[in-house]
Amino acid sequence: MGGNARTSAARHAELARPISGTIYHGADSQNIAQILERGLNPGYAGTNAGSLFGLGNYFALNSSKADIYTKPSRRYRSGARCVLVCRVLLGEPYRTVAPCQTIRKPPDDPLRHLSSVVALTLKASPMRGCVMYPEFVVFERAQCLPQYAIWYEHAAGCRCTHCAPPRFSG
Ligand SMILES: [Zn+2]
Repeated sequence: MGGNARTSAARHAELARPISGTIYHGADSQNIAQILERGLNPGYAGTNAGSLFGLGNYFALNSSKADIYTKPSRRYRSGARCVLVCRVLLGEPYRTVAPCQTIRKPPDDPLRHLSSVVALTLKASPMRGCVMYPEFVVFERAQCLPQYAIWYEHAAGCRCTHCAPPRFSG
């Protein structure tokens, strides 16, 4: 894990303190222009990437995790994938150790106003964590400001699950 300030700030959100962070969002290349113009619409949540931790917009600390949710488009910049670098207001997160697919906002809490969902990693909570790499979910369009779009392609010969999907034989 790199030790730069951006990453450690977002990591604090997973572990301890309410904060905003600059984190990654992977999306279908066809939707990037619209997202940059209008922001991320939680109304589309789950249509591309599933919704294990609620019907919101998903972000990752790791660009490689965001890459999983990218989709190259033949029509738009042939073959290129895009990860968005986003400023995300996480506020006080609800830290979950289990899937919560159907929620449309963080759970009500009598003591705090919760603004986001963070899926705890096995590293943060060895007994109870539920993901390998942190995931962050927000439910309001205004909580996310896409700042940069990083366009890239996987190298020839790449062995990732996009480029070389595992094959199972009976
Ligand atoms: Zn690849």
